[in-house]
Amino acid sequence: MDKQFLDIQSKKLNFQKKILLKKMSELTKILDFGDSQDDNAQEVAETSNNLSLGRDLKLELKEIEKVLKRIGDGGYGKCDQCGGVIEKKRLELIPTAVNCANCQSKLKK
Ligand SMILES: [Zn+2]
Repeated sequence: MDKQFLDIQSKKLNFQKKILLKKMSELTKILDFGDSQDDNAQEVAETSNNLSLGRDLKLELKEIEKVLKRIGDGGYGKCDQCGGVIEKKRLELIPTAVNCANCQSKLKK
C-alpha cells in the first residue's frame, strides 16, 4: 500500500467518522426529548427505531476506528479471511472493507 493511497483512505474514513459522530449526537438529542411522561405509542415506536439506528451507528463507528487503526499499524488492505491483498478499487469504494472481493462473495453464500 502506498502512503498516498493510505492518506486518501484515512481522510475518507475520518470524514465518515465525523458524519457518524454528528448523527449520533443528533440522535442523542432526539432520544432525550422522548423522555417525556406522556409518551404515546408512536413516540415509543420512534424511540425504539432511533435506538436501533443508534446501535447501527455505533457498529459503523467501531468498524471505522478499527480500520483507521490498521492504517496506523500498516495492516490496512489485508484480507481478514485469506491474508491476501484487498483490491484497491474495492477499498476506494468501501474504505472499511476488511475482506477481499473473492472472500466476501464466499461469505455471502
Ligand atoms: Zn480474501
